[in-house]
Amino acid sequence: MIIDGREIASQMIQKIKEEVSLLRGRRPTLAFILVGGNPASTAYIQMKKKSCERVGIRSKDQVFPDGIGERELLEVIQKLNRDDEVDGILVQLPLPPSISTQKILETVDPAKDVDGFHPINMGRLLLGEENGFIPCTPLGIQILLQKSGNDPGGKHVVILGRSNIVGKPLAALLMQKKIGANATVTLAHSQTKHLIDICQSGDILIAAVGIPAFVTKQMVKKGAVVIDVGINRVNGNIVGDVAFDEVAPLAKGITPVPGGVGPMTIALLLSNTLKSYKLREK
Ligand code: NAD
Repeated sequence: MIIDGREIASQMIQKIKEEVSLLRGRRPTLAFILVGGNPASTAYIQMKKKSCERVGIRSKDQVFPDGIGERELLEVIQKLNRDDEVDGILVQLPLPPSISTQKILETVDPAKDVDGFHPINMGRLLLGEENGFIPCTPLGIQILLQKSGNDPGGKHVVILGRSNIVGKPLAALLMQKKIGANATVTLAHSQTKHLIDICQSGDILIAAVGIPAFVTKQMVKKGAVVIDVGINRVNGNIVGDVAFDEVAPLAKGITPVPGGVGPMTIALLLSNTLKSYKLREK
């Protein structure tokens, strides 16, 4: 079974659109910060802005050249923190090496941190608190599993990759009781031994490695659910981390790339922005 992220995301986006259309007064607003001309980052921002437009969320563009100084960028963020019209601040990563990503992300007001990357929101996630922002890709994956009839409750979920934006927050989320999915989680990474055995023991296998065709059929248990987070460019095409053609016949469910996790990430960005708006208007 193909797990259709586009369809599930589109249902979520429709609901957000309806909710936004009923709002009176100020519109929810998301500020985008883009530094430099990285084509992938520019394309992501365009895509996210278009989705905002679709649901009636206002976007505020802040584009800077590669040479912008760290102090100047910090001031931009502080100004957006003080701007009452702005509900969410998204800093498109990666930033140039001359700028400390950690410093920049820690400067975003946690109440406007719709990406959920601020240490306060990461801490709230780890503690299972409901009042924080959960990073969009992990939350999108949890919802995708639940809505496609593959609830991770009590199951063994193996996650490949320990990045701060996918692997780590995803592990922290899926294991939670209230805000999560009650899963038993194993987080594997580049130094993991017996990787094939570990992957094979997963009822749900989630790949966030960034290497095309990394997950082969030898790594997948028959009847497992496979979620492919990878976005890799190969000969002008976008492919995931899973060797789809050989893994799909084994799997109970599998996400395609594109059309799986990607659209959910965008839907959750809109949903987090609306959540921030509602909390700030209260
Ligand atoms: P990253 O590049 O920061 O980290 C990759 C992770 O893979 C590391 O934690 C590393 O330990 C692990 N890894 C590398 N080689 C390995 C090996 N041989 N065995 C086991 N683990 C290994 O990763 P990221 O930023 O989480 O991105 C991963 C992929 O997901 C990329 O392709 C990225 O483009 C994609 N991504 C997609 C979305 C989406 O919305 N679909 C969102 C974020 C990232």
